[in-house]
Amino acid sequence: MAGCLFCQIVSGDIDAAVVHQGESTLAFRDINPQAPVHVLVIPREHLTNAADLTHDHAALLAEMVATAQWVATSEGVAESGYRLVMNVGADGGQTVGHLHLHVLGGRTMTWPPG
Ligand code: 5GP
Ligand code: ZN
Repeated sequence: MAGCLFCQIVSGDIDAAVVHQGESTLAFRDINPQAPVHVLVIPREHLTNAADLTHDHAALLAEMVATAQWVATSEGVAESGYRLVMNVGADGGQTVGHLHLHVLGGRTMTWPPG
C-alpha cells in the first residue's frame, strides 16, 4: 500500500533489521525497543490491524504466531517467556497502520501495560 511504512520495509525501500523471512510474514527489530527483545512480526500483505482479520486469514495468523515462536526461540526467550501484543486503533496505542505482532521479552512484563 503506497505510503505505508511497513509495506516499504516489505518491499525493501526502507531498511530494517530483519530477523526472519517467512513465506507470508516478515520479522524485524523494533526501532524503539521497549524490552531487551522487541521484534515486530508483520504480514507481507497490507492489513491495517487485527480488526481486518477474518476466518480467511486463518493460515496467515497461524504463520504470524509460528514466526513469533521462531523469533522467541532464536532470541533465547522461549523458555523465560515473552509477551505477544497487537495494538488496534488509537486507544489501543497503534501508531503504524499495518498489522503487526509485537514480540517482547528478556525482562519481566508488568500488567496492566501502561
Ligand atoms: P504500534 O504502536 O503501532 O503498536 O507499534 C508500532 C511500532 O513500530 C512501534 O513500537 C515503533 O517503535 C515501531 N516503528 C515505528 N517506525 C519504525 C521503523 O521505521 N522501523 C522499525 N523497525 N520500527 C518502527
Ligand atoms: Zn502496509
